[in-house]
Amino acid sequence: MSYNVEQIRADFPILQREVHPGKKLIFLDSAASSQKPIQVINAMQDYYLTSHANVHRGVHVLSEAATAAYEGARDKVQHFINARSRKEIIYTRNTTESLNLVAASWGRANLKPGDVVILSELEHHSNIVPWQILQAEKGFTIKYIPVLPDLTFDMEAFQRFLDEGGVKLVSTTQVSNVLGYMTPLKQIVDLAHQAGALVCIDGAQSVPHLPVDVQALDVDFLAFSGHKMCGPTGIGILYGKREILESMPPYMGGGDMIRRVTLEGSTWNDLPYKFEAGTPAIAEAVGLGAAVDYLSSIGLAAIHVYEREVVEYAHERLAEIPGLNLLAPPQNRRSGVATFTLHNAHPHDIAQVLDYEGIAIRAGHHCAMPLHQKLNVPATARASFYLYNTRQEVDQLAEALYKVAELFAPR
Ligand code: PMP
Repeated sequence: MSYNVEQIRADFPILQREVHPGKKLIFLDSAASSQKPIQVINAMQDYYLTSHANVHRGVHVLSEAATAAYEGARDKVQHFINARSRKEIIYTRNTTESLNLVAASWGRANLKPGDVVILSELEHHSNIVPWQILQAEKGFTIKYIPVLPDLTFDMEAFQRFLDEGGVKLVSTTQVSNVLGYMTPLKQIVDLAHQAGALVCIDGAQSVPHLPVDVQALDVDFLAFSGHKMCGPTGIGILYGKREILESMPPYMGGGDMIRRVTLEGSTWNDLPYKFEAGTPAIAEAVGLGAAVDYLSSIGLAAIHVYEREVVEYAHERLAEIPGLNLLAPPQNRRSGVATFTLHNAHPHDIAQVLDYEGIAIRAGHHCAMPLHQKLNVPATARASFYLYNTRQEVDQLAEALYKVAELFAPR
């Protein structure tokens, strides 16, 4: 079946919107948060119209319906990433909370002075700051895989860090939100495991865009967000290998995560509930399940191939623009985004001018300040692409950027 982008676009009502008089939305900011298809919006509305009650605790019809919908979505996510068991799928709020859970629970229980955690220079703040917070408490060492001038990982340095010993965890991203760089994940996992370290993957920019199979990759943790994969905000996932999650202490205490509470102490519920304290985001889980169904009906492999074609076309078109400098890793390792600077124009000004044309891009440090410091640019402009973007939209972006280039050309 061929990829039918027009049919896909018809599922996203917001893409019909005019954002300024005569200017239809060209949405190139999906790396920040994707738009939602009508199937997801309907699933959430349906849930509220027919089935809402609190989950797990009730015996009445609505509570059973809500529980079935909430838990059914967990099964969908399990199959989507090919986890062995539904117990390995923990609902969180987003990638950020998933990574904080790993740091606060696994990290606090396992890291001590002399231990090493390897991150990389291109991580999103959500995969740096939780480790720094814990480092202040636990006194372990953090090493960062350097980014080379060609915007790929310095794998020799990575190997050297592993050889230096003491490495307990490697936590890195699968796809950079700034560069679109697809990290050599399988190699990282194999080398880390050989060195006896666990691997935690930030899948915020990979799970929405390409097939991710946790068993094939053999990752120990995987964090991702519903809102970047056609699902709602307020729901994310932490995947963890069952035996590792079993060994970890709870992250938050409260209802649902306990087996028994006495005034003297408490015992914990089974997985995955041990990590899901309090009333969860039920409608959001239902929406995520619908998003998984939606993406699966098109196929992640097909989405990935299509998107990379559009991104490559964007790189081609943008490279022609005078004064535009693309931050582009090697072609076979990039996906999802075209990130650039243009003359000395501030990226916020670029984004503002594009907005007048109806084009939504993002400008700033994209929550990756250390990477920008390394690249010696205070901020960049980022156009990001998803399953509903077209080559025609790339042409419109390029045309608008020619105007921006002229406007900000040095005189
Ligand atoms: N990691 C990466 C690579 C991201 O792109 C993002 C979102 N920009 C996050 C983590 C954080 O995601 P969230 O805000 O949904 O927690």
